[in-house]
Amino acid sequence: MIPASFRYAAPQSVGEAVDLLAAHADAKVLAGGHSLLPLMKLRLAMPPVLVDINRIPGLDYIREDPQIEQLRVGALARHIDFERSQLIQDRYPLLWDAARGIGDPLVRNRGTLAGAVAHADPAADWPAALLAANASVVATSPRGERIIPLSEFFRAILTTALTPDELVTELRIPFPEPRSGGAYEKLERKVGDYAVIGVGVQLSLNAAGTIAKAGIGLCNAGSTSIRATEAAAYLVGKPPATDYINEAAQLAMQASDPIEDDRGPVDYKRAMVRELTRRALRRALARAEGGRP
Ligand SMILES: Cc1cc2nc3c(=O)[nH]c(=O)nc-3n(C[C@H](O)[C@H](O)[C@H](O)COP(=O)(O)OP(=O)(O)OC[C@H]3O[C@@H](n4cnc5c(N)ncnc54)[C@H](O)[C@@H]3O)c2cc1C
Repeated sequence: MIPASFRYAAPQSVGEAVDLLAAHADAKVLAGGHSLLPLMKLRLAMPPVLVDINRIPGLDYIREDPQIEQLRVGALARHIDFERSQLIQDRYPLLWDAARGIGDPLVRNRGTLAGAVAHADPAADWPAALLAANASVVATSPRGERIIPLSEFFRAILTTALTPDELVTELRIPFPEPRSGGAYEKLERKVGDYAVIGVGVQLSLNAAGTIAKAGIGLCNAGSTSIRATEAAAYLVGKPPATDYINEAAQLAMQASDPIEDDRGPVDYKRAMVRELTRRALRRALARAEGGRP
């Protein structure tokens, strides 16, 4: 099918883009187009106006900002930019893992992190990885900027805390703590597919070698991307021993609420949450302890 007709706008600045969004309540932002265009072709989405942000200069950055101790990711940073970034590979292995597992090279060449977050598909990998990393969203509108913790961002399937006139202009990810590690584990039916289940973990160790902080995010395990807060809280203060890892994985499984579909029945998916949480925890711990598996 071909999309329904729409008006196309290509603003040259963030200000122009948010004015267009404010003027047209049903307008949609076009970033990489790899989630929006398939929906439009099926006529599941029929926005009367498309606001293409790809011509806005200066939105494709990935840079560390020592002043706020956060990694700043512009709205046009693409999956491929993360996959190819030495900074991300060295300092943010959780994000590097997640980037490399998304779709295929065509998808990674165009898709953006901001678009994946704004789309709020619980089957998408970035939201789970970014929840584990304790990220936040910078939303810009004609009224100015506000920062939304990602933990408060996902409201329901394909539904977020954004108002119709807000553009995600930046994602922010806290600097990794000393002695920290992260990992993303994805189970897929075949290369290039969406996850059956995905699990992201970010954690740090204190001087005594016990877990100081932990974050766990689940992909395709419920009607939104899930932050497994109980599992993460359980790990704090524990040594990185198998029994504790297993208990945390069990708690992550209890936080999941997947549906049966062609990727598998509920019990299987819940068991995969437990297993992938174990694996992600083990790899994150190994990375925190100085290894790079
Ligand atoms: C074949 C295929 C395989 C895929 N496999 C995977 C996979 O394995 N894992 C995975 O996670 N994803 C997968 N995807 C999805 C892909 O990663 C998308 O690129 C991504 O989810 C959306 O990013 P985008 O930049 O393409 O957004 P778009 O498609 O341009 O936009 C998506 C939605 O977000 C809104 N939006 C976009 N940018 C902004 C912004 N800055 N501010 C406010 N709203 C915005 C749009 O209006 C739209 O509603 C796949 C897609 C395809 C086509």
